[in-house]
Amino acid sequence: MRRDKRGEDEVVVDRVACTAHGVCSVVSNGAIELDEFGYPVPSRLTMGRRDARELVAQCPARALLIARDR
Ligand code: SF4
Repeated sequence: MRRDKRGEDEVVVDRVACTAHGVCSVVSNGAIELDEFGYPVPSRLTMGRRDARELVAQCPARALLIARDR
C-alpha cells in the first residue's frame, strides 16, 4: 500500500468507473472538487488513512481506490 512517512494513503479515482455522483466532494469536505461534468478533481489525493478508507467506502460506484504499490 502506498503511504508516506506520515501514515497517509493515496486515493485514486477510477475515471472509467466514476459516474459523477459527486458524493466524494461532499464527503471530503471540498478536498475533492468537481469539474464542469461532475467528475472529481484532482484524480489523486493523499490523506490520512482513516479518512481515505471512509472516502473510498462512500463512493456509490466503487470508483475510489487506495493506491497500492506494484
Ligand atoms: S463519489 Fe464516486 S462516482 Fe461519484 S463523483 Fe466521486 S468518484 Fe465519481
